[in-house]
Amino acid sequence: MSDNHVHHHHSPLSEIDQRVNKLQNLLIEKGLINQEAMDELIDTYENRVGPQNGARVVARAWTDADYKSRLLRDATNAIREMGYEGRQGEHMEVVENTDSVHNLVVCTLCSCYPWPVLGLPPTWYKASSYRARAVSEPRLVLQEFGVELAPGVEVRVWDSTAEIRYLVLPQRPVGLEHWTAEQLSELVTRDSMIGVALVSKEPAV
Ligand code: FE
Repeated sequence: MSDNHVHHHHSPLSEIDQRVNKLQNLLIEKGLINQEAMDELIDTYENRVGPQNGARVVARAWTDADYKSRLLRDATNAIREMGYEGRQGEHMEVVENTDSVHNLVVCTLCSCYPWPVLGLPPTWYKASSYRARAVSEPRLVLQEFGVELAPGVEVRVWDSTAEIRYLVLPQRPVGLEHWTAEQLSELVTRDSMIGVALVSKEPAV
């Protein structure tokens, strides 16, 4: 992605990608953005910061009751305590899934997303259909992602904004009581922290 500006004549880019590249090149030409700073930013959030951070936060909450209560009370600081902070993570809220409540996160306006714990948002998260339907028909959206909730479970939809970014604390799979936080963190997927998946006992691929 970061070197598309070099190869855009040969790569089968979509029309929208080509337009983004043209715009990016124009901004660089005009001196409005710096290509190196841009590449550094993209590399950071695509490769070095990602859902593995959020997964460690979740697994610690599952195995450390004090940490969990701090996380639910003051997510920003509890997450910072694990070393994850920065752009688009300045004000975090963690919402907990339980037997009676399932949480789903969306940004209805654009694509606000907690970068320090999840990296960059997936394409579908930014799509207008997800942004609209997560609010208007969340159960149907969840079904399409393969999440079947019991009829009595309440679905709560959280609209992330520039001010507040939400992270879902999924339910810990049962039957893994002897697992360490590190082992458990390998089961926690990006989608489960957005709320479009549950955490299963099978490790994420
Ligand atoms: Fe947004």
